[in-house]
Amino acid sequence: MPSLDSNIEFLKGVGPQRAETLKSELGIFTCRDLLFHFPFRYVDRTKFHKIRDVHSEGEMVQFRGILRRLETLGAGRARRLVGSLRDETGMVELVWFQSLHWLEKSLQVGKEYIVFGRLSEFNGRFNITHPEMEEVAKAAGEDGVVGPGKTFDPVYPSTDKLSQKGLDTKGLRKLMRTLLDGLAPNELPETLPDYLIGQFRLCSKWRALSDIHFPENQNDLDAATRRIKFEELLFLQLRILQLRTRRKDTIRGFVFERIGDIFNKFYEEKLPFELTNAQKRVVKELRADMATGKQMNRLVQGDVGSGKTVVALMAMLIALDNERKSDDAPFQACLMAPTEILAQQHFTGLTELLSDLGVTIGYLSGSVKGKKRQAVLEQLASGDLQILIGTHALIEDWVQFKNLGISIIDEQHRFGVEQRSKLWRKNPDGPPHVLVMTATPIPRTLAMTLYGDLDVSVIDELPPGRKPITTKHFNEHHRLRVQGFMKEEIAKGRQVYVVYPMIEETEKLDLQNLMSGYEAISRDFPAPQYQISIVHGKMKAADKDYEMQRFVRGETQIMVATTVIEVGVNVPNASVMVIENAERFGLSQLHQLRGRVGRGAEESHCLLLTGFKLSNEGKERIQTMVRTQDGFEIAEVDLKLRGPGNIEGTQQSGMLRFLLADLARDGQILTAAREIATRILEADPALAAPEHGRLRMHLASEGKEARVWSRIS
Ligand code: ADP
Ligand code: MG
Repeated sequence: MPSLDSNIEFLKGVGPQRAETLKSELGIFTCRDLLFHFPFRYVDRTKFHKIRDVHSEGEMVQFRGILRRLETLGAGRARRLVGSLRDETGMVELVWFQSLHWLEKSLQVGKEYIVFGRLSEFNGRFNITHPEMEEVAKAAGEDGVVGPGKTFDPVYPSTDKLSQKGLDTKGLRKLMRTLLDGLAPNELPETLPDYLIGQFRLCSKWRALSDIHFPENQNDLDAATRRIKFEELLFLQLRILQLRTRRKDTIRGFVFERIGDIFNKFYEEKLPFELTNAQKRVVKELRADMATGKQMNRLVQGDVGSGKTVVALMAMLIALDNERKSDDAPFQACLMAPTEILAQQHFTGLTELLSDLGVTIGYLSGSVKGKKRQAVLEQLASGDLQILIGTHALIEDWVQFKNLGISIIDEQHRFGVEQRSKLWRKNPDGPPHVLVMTATPIPRTLAMTLYGDLDVSVIDELPPGRKPITTKHFNEHHRLRVQGFMKEEIAKGRQVYVVYPMIEETEKLDLQNLMSGYEAISRDFPAPQYQISIVHGKMKAADKDYEMQRFVRGETQIMVATTVIEVGVNVPNASVMVIENAERFGLSQLHQLRGRVGRGAEESHCLLLTGFKLSNEGKERIQTMVRTQDGFEIAEVDLKLRGPGNIEGTQQSGMLRFLLADLARDGQILTAAREIATRILEADPALAAPEHGRLRMHLASEGKEARVWSRIS
């Protein structure tokens, strides 16, 4: 019997040819790889459905019946193989679009089959597309019994090529049996301490891996699943927490102990409002971070409109009030935003907030060129410029600070990891403190994982006086009503956004759509009574800025735009957000867009316009928006609908690849794993205690992956 790490070729029943196919089709090189090739579902052979009794589309069904008909219909892309299956209660249609040739040869009319698949409805009739077929005669167990008597059968993902080599689900089951039967339990050593296994009533590692392939019943399968998920999430948390401790211990940071004139003067004389308690708390946390002598690495999460900008500004002022020990050079600060519009707005806003304080503040982006750019760069290098605000341009190598003390990144999920880390290197004296901000609410479970090695502050309170935003859903029929409503609001002196979707894949069409929308609005809202701005990503920066400024100054009442306005734009007098083709936007995008209104003291409205027919998912997104304004609730729904891999900022991480764990569904296990990992590391940071030997060994054996993860933040 080969060991777990031996080449799959040497497992009985494999051989060189099958080994080749296993490698190319499934990436299975060793026996261990095979063991971790988990079933993607199970067939409960204990029951057959009756064709007459099933009614709901989408249901997974298993029938036993005679194949009555099999024929190829259509041509070209519509070519399909259609069969009819009859049991004693009725008839159901079977349809295939792929592997027709192979199926035609292997299926036989008149034979009895076990048919398994998902029920769908077409023209009022049920069918099963691409059902799994197993001939009854061949499916019988050794005792000749089909169905009852057998319990759970694993189903493995397979391909044509695998099937041709006899490695369909049945073939793979057989190999898996051979492997498990030949495996000595000590080949799969336990990885969790006994006390945890006892405390959480987990099954052993050996048992879990064996049962994940061949459970006797649902209970065994559930226990195996729970054990494997728990282990995955526990090790993930241990890794993240260890990285974080290590970082905190090793990366020194500038010490900003002083709260000086600039900060105090701003706070006492310039700040136009009272900070919310949440803002005060976060400012305190930032102050504490920057005084420790370790580099600050903090994420500030706060829903749209929660007032992150002023918090960031105060962190910058703390830097400005402090000096480098060696030459008394005061520290500088920078703020980077993902779009020109947003960066401009920050520049204008902060310049105003800082007026009369004697603070110098500059702006830099790709569109700042020639002499202007030269001037900014010189002042930056000489230290004359204290605060720099801008876009991606800030991270370019030619941008050199004299003494950068803090880097702030707004809407951080819009930036890549690499881009963020470049700001670290802008001071040869040592890394500046880093503050990243995001308005994309991330569910707690995901934040714990994604940002597990950052410190997180949450601004969980909106400034007072905000009126809630009323959100309504309209379709094409209501267009006139929507228009009438816009006119009413404009008559009251308010401003209106009309947003169109724009994605790369359908850019041309989207742009046409936007332009014809703009023309229609221009007709319905004629000049000179109405003035309209338009902003989209294909415009020159200067034009965008011009249009934007007209809207900000209130010279235009309507802003027709794409999602370029999604991020951070702040026009308090705008109280209506109309979103065209709302079904095409993701939930977090819709939430961000809605956050553009409700910023003043006026009652605000969000109107979601869609077509008539919506997919289930589209419907749920719209309903969620209408139901709630709570960013975190919306993020939870988003996570459920899309899965964690699609949440902004997680794609690049690659760390969320699990065998079984699912961050959208396993929040409870994740929370438990997080708590346990924290407790373990608090008591035994190096995992040196004998009872943690297994944990230590397992972590060490997977150290390579951990290194990749350390780059995430
Ligand atoms: P976001 O968190 O979305 O970046 P901003 O920082 O743009 O939010 O703030 C939104 C608006 O709220 C701005 O007009 C800002 O001046 C205002 N604001 C921020 N904090 C307060 C506060 N404590 N009281 C009143 N208004 C505030
Ligand atoms: Mg903002």
